[in-house]
Amino acid sequence: MNKYPFKEVGASVYAWDMHDESVEAVLDNLEGMAHVNSVYLVALMHEERHPWPENTDFLHNPARKEYMTEDSVAYWHVDAHNYGRIVPAEPRNFLKGTDWLALLVKEARQRNMKVGMEFSHTLIDGKRLEHELADVCQIDIFGKPLTVTHIGENHRVPCMNHPDFREYAKNLYTDVVTNYDIDYVLNCIMPYPSPATYLLAEYDREHQPLTRIVASILTSGCFCPSCQARAKAMGFNLEAIRRSLLVLVEEDRQEPGFDKTNMSLMELLMKYPDIQKWFQFKCASVASFHREISECVHKIRPGIDNRLNMYVTSHPEYAGFWGKALAPAFDSVRICCYTENLGIKDAAEKKRRVIRSVQKSFGKDMELISAIGVLPGATPDSIRDGLQVSSECGVSSIALGHYDGASFDMLKTVGAYVGNIWKHDEN
Ligand SMILES: [Zn+2]
Repeated sequence: MNKYPFKEVGASVYAWDMHDESVEAVLDNLEGMAHVNSVYLVALMHEERHPWPENTDFLHNPARKEYMTEDSVAYWHVDAHNYGRIVPAEPRNFLKGTDWLALLVKEARQRNMKVGMEFSHTLIDGKRLEHELADVCQIDIFGKPLTVTHIGENHRVPCMNHPDFREYAKNLYTDVVTNYDIDYVLNCIMPYPSPATYLLAEYDREHQPLTRIVASILTSGCFCPSCQARAKAMGFNLEAIRRSLLVLVEEDRQEPGFDKTNMSLMELLMKYPDIQKWFQFKCASVASFHREISECVHKIRPGIDNRLNMYVTSHPEYAGFWGKALAPAFDSVRICCYTENLGIKDAAEKKRRVIRSVQKSFGKDMELISAIGVLPGATPDSIRDGLQVSSECGVSSIALGHYDGASFDMLKTVGAYVGNIWKHDEN
């Protein structure tokens, strides 16, 4: 039996954790309570109220009860010379002036821990996308800027096929992999918005496919000149696809819910074959974006672990995620499924289904890391079940999310489980 059934017990850390509690205290807690041996900084973070996702207060932060993150600022030292047109923004509040990534790397190395960093969903703040970077934004099927609603406001979304955005993403990776002694970079970038997910979740796979597809067309797809050019190079005619999808949207508008007459997915695809081409183009765009990043980082450091955070675990193809196409770009995949926190029946079986579907989609050779929710919504039983299912599915590692909102009791539950297995294996 493998001495370490989970070779990596990882945990995410934020800059405000280190500011408010000190980097030493944070790592003492993670190591001492949960046997964490790998930490990563969410070093470019989207706007979000924390603790996330629960509407509770921080349990162990001595300085604040909650925190609203600044939108897409870099928690490392940014040198504009390393960038082209787009340079990452820096913090403007109490977190400015410190290289939080350097601080975490130094402390983790002293403890012989693995260390990494994460680029979260958004790489550019919404305000700049409204103004100086408006030309890099996604364009919807009607020719207007595509927006998503986040924390009550509409935000524009950069297009991954725009050359300036692609260069920016590669520069971000080049910067951190060149200048920091990190073992892995976690990619949680959201290439296409997936606001339709909440709609998708209400329908199971085989029912009302049209409703799901129309929701996706209206909320998650780009038809800008850069996408047109990329599509052409890939052998797609995006303008012809756009016109065909518009007919579908118009039919749905005139007769809302006309698919409720038991139209099968196959019937729909026979009637509108461009739906499939559009999904293929979205998935090919996302895969090519990640492949370019992968080539870039592996050229700088061949041994770096380019890791995908698989944040969309339900209908990932709607967000442009197609495992088989993405697998060559990644060395490992973190399955972002926090069923432990949900307090639902059959949570562990849900987790098993999600892990199995990612395994199937990315292939048996992909190294998998199972995320474990350690927030107050979790219970010792739900944590043990989540760990047990992860172990049974054969994932190589686990990753706890997120330290700032974690309950210490839950961290200790993880530590007891991992420690028991290690002790058992030593005997
Ligand atoms: Zn585009």
